[in-house]
Amino acid sequence: MQSQGDKPRGVSRVDLRTAATRVVRSLTEAGNIAYFAGGCVRDRLMGLEPTDYDIATDARPDAVGKLFRKSQHVGESFGVMLVSSMGHQIQVAAFRTEGVYSDGRHPDTVTYSDARHDAQRRDFTINGLFENPLTGELIDFVGGQADLKAKLIRAIGDPHARLREDRLRMLRAVRFSARFGFAIDAATSEAIRAGADDLPGVSPERIGQELKQMLSDRNRAVAAMELQALGLDQAVLHEPHQAAALNRLGRLPADVAYPTALAAWLLDRHEDADADVTARARRWSAALLLSNADQTAMSRRVAIYETLRGSWPQLSVAKQKRLAAGGEFDEALLLLQATDPQAFVRIRQEVSVLAESDLAPPALIGGHDLIALGLPRGPLFKRVLDAVYDAQLEGTVREKAAALALAKTISLTAEGGSPDT
Ligand code: ATP
Ligand code: MG
Repeated sequence: MQSQGDKPRGVSRVDLRTAATRVVRSLTEAGNIAYFAGGCVRDRLMGLEPTDYDIATDARPDAVGKLFRKSQHVGESFGVMLVSSMGHQIQVAAFRTEGVYSDGRHPDTVTYSDARHDAQRRDFTINGLFENPLTGELIDFVGGQADLKAKLIRAIGDPHARLREDRLRMLRAVRFSARFGFAIDAATSEAIRAGADDLPGVSPERIGQELKQMLSDRNRAVAAMELQALGLDQAVLHEPHQAAALNRLGRLPADVAYPTALAAWLLDRHEDADADVTARARRWSAALLLSNADQTAMSRRVAIYETLRGSWPQLSVAKQKRLAAGGEFDEALLLLQATDPQAFVRIRQEVSVLAESDLAPPALIGGHDLIALGLPRGPLFKRVLDAVYDAQLEGTVREKAAALALAKTISLTAEGGSPDT
């Protein structure tokens, strides 16, 4: 790909659609059929800006490779080429027909075919549309336009068969339904309910990715509600089905981070159920194959939230300041806001008062000061520094001399009291 910096003079950066249209034009002028396909056609018709453009064509990958100097095969994907056009990467896939799926995820055979058959292999009618960007013509073999108008997610063909072929489609149906505010058509819903218990056939990676997309969207509570209503929650979360009210999830700000959304859903399902929420968080992490960062963030946010709901008023000023200065505090506050707005406002006010005397001031003394005092290096070091810093946070120690004096006192008491620690 060309970076903006070294772009040749006279060539201006063009938008993605223009770049994709140029690929269709080149294919068409070389005597092929080529269309925009799937999500980009759907998004455009809904007035949304597509984030990527997929092109479907009757040209075979080798022919595409000859036509476009900058192109390469996409490993693992049948008949798909990645073409570089005016600084953008566009996927160009050959029209194809898929054979039987015997593993619930991949077709056993794939063969080159035409646009009509290529539409049939796609998942939902709104995702099965083609558009010729050179003429503006829409090519609709599956009733996709009518379902866009009716706001319906409907499987192409027999829903039972199509969802059994690739069970991930059950989650895709929920994701598109929540994202666009579309209903899932009755027969398709029925097929999802009937197949929900087979979802574990799909890899946890794929399930985790779908869930992440759902919960990162502003309509996350609708998605979670549908997962529960369709009986998919059990298979996604590896725990018994539950029709939880989703008050917290529904009250989160639109653009909240994924681990916070997960934490909200976790609390919605388990906080009142007398369950060990921390253990649940671990199980969810395993079920969804969360990254270490997401896992830590979710667990930490739940833990801080529980402190805010419980022992916060009894904590020392130093402990409150340490907590409030920590990285996860603001996200945990969002959980509280979604649960108990009154408590949220109160605690936020308390924190702003604490912040007047600095939540995390630079420490008055450090390890080198303890060495200068003649203290031996060891476990005592950290204890002394922590205790002195607590005193600093409490406001009982304000200057370096006082901090050093306190350090001396603490270390003497500690050495005298329990020489091992
Ligand atoms: P998004 O905006 O989430 O990317 P999309 O519709 O573009 O939505 P993609 O996953 O990018 O979704 O797939 C592009 C197209 O490929 C879809 O519109 C659909 O036609 C087809 N497709 C993708 N996944 C499947 C699937 N599991 N089964 C059948 N067809 C699929
Ligand atoms: Mg897409």
